[in-house]
Amino acid sequence: MMWADLFSSLSQNPYFSAGFGLFGVGAGAAILRKGLQGGVILFRRHLMITLEVPCRDKSYQWLLKWITLRGARKTQHLSVETSFLQNDNGQINTSFDFIPSIGKHLFQYRGNWIQVERTREQQTLDIQMGVPWESVTLTALGRNKQIYFEILEDARQLALQSTEGKTIMYTAMGAEWRPFGHPRRRRPTSSVVLDNGISQKIIADCQDFINNSSWYTQRGIPYRRGYLLYGPPGCGKSSFITALAGELQYGICLLNLSERGLTDDRLNHLLNAAPEQSIILLEDIDAAFVSRESSVTQKSAYDGLNRITFSGLLNCLDGVASTEARIVFMTTNYLERLDPALIRPGRIDLKEYIGHCTHFQLKEMFKKFYGPHENTKANEFADRVISFHHPVSPAQIQGFFMKHKSSCPQTVVNSCEEIWENVPN
Ligand code: ADP
Repeated sequence: MMWADLFSSLSQNPYFSAGFGLFGVGAGAAILRKGLQGGVILFRRHLMITLEVPCRDKSYQWLLKWITLRGARKTQHLSVETSFLQNDNGQINTSFDFIPSIGKHLFQYRGNWIQVERTREQQTLDIQMGVPWESVTLTALGRNKQIYFEILEDARQLALQSTEGKTIMYTAMGAEWRPFGHPRRRRPTSSVVLDNGISQKIIADCQDFINNSSWYTQRGIPYRRGYLLYGPPGCGKSSFITALAGELQYGICLLNLSERGLTDDRLNHLLNAAPEQSIILLEDIDAAFVSRESSVTQKSAYDGLNRITFSGLLNCLDGVASTEARIVFMTTNYLERLDPALIRPGRIDLKEYIGHCTHFQLKEMFKKFYGPHENTKANEFADRVISFHHPVSPAQIQGFFMKHKSSCPQTVVNSCEEIWENVPN
């Protein structure tokens, strides 16, 4: 009885019933909000598909470019990306690309609306590259993941188109390989004149290696091959490797072993993580260890730290394992300075001397420059140069021909002595 009286007096109390009403409205709103949130979560979980592409992924740059070109043309919020394009004559043009800025953008792709969200974490740095962590998230309606495969494939094709006929050079940034410089126009291997048959021999060896993966897998032999080109400077070692990469449609991963901060671990990772279809090039391999010894005598505070060790390099070379053909080229001007352990078979499978000009090379270079019909003059030129008994590099011959690019072939033959002018002995 007492309870009934209390209830009826409270319900007639205007203050109390207003509070109760307010409480009811608040609770209702909270339930609605929760319901909506749950609905959104359910909707996202079951009726939307998202794809996150972090900046560390290979497809990140492709995707940004693709979004710029294909999708988000109409967006009004942009950030700039400046690029340099090199013409065939070497002239460099600067171009500005607008890429969607950080934030959300909406565009249509094959009849589907896609939201692109580009985010950048100010607090998180990518340790390896030292840049803010970025990612792009694509969100589309529906449950069909196929659309993302199509987008990524489209983006990849677009990226490939821009490097078609070019050789991409990669450099090591942290533990990653990043393209650097402008993709270079492929140089035909025939433009690098090596002694008779050498060029063909190396190309045939590489092609044979690339085409015979099953031979290696069946025998459990690591699918890699090491090449060493040695000889004096200016004779075409680097030029030939670049041309060879073009011929094989491979990129080049250039690694400087004397670089500070290159530890055994990093080297190991880099050698194993090199992009597919690329040649790993270790230039002046002798210098890496010589320079280290001399720096040890200077007793700098960091000596011994952050450098590769010789045994580390050997281990890394032995450990390079890949289902992809792994081609490692090394060059040196001083074969005798190399430790025999480095150049034993398995680490170096083909050694080739790329030396000063032979009669054959002089003749071929002459004909390349002044025309294939100049056979007699080319012979005469080669005879004369050889008669001086002075070694001469193809780089010197190239310089000499450039000086005489409008001279008549006879004048060129007569002026041979000039080749050794201004050459330090
Ligand atoms: P290396 O790596 O042996 O020191 P490079 O490949 O750097 O020599 O050559 C230096 C320059 O000389 C390049 O511009 C290249 O075009 C030219 N050159 C060198 N060797 C040859 C060659 N065998 N045929 C044509 N050009 C050559």
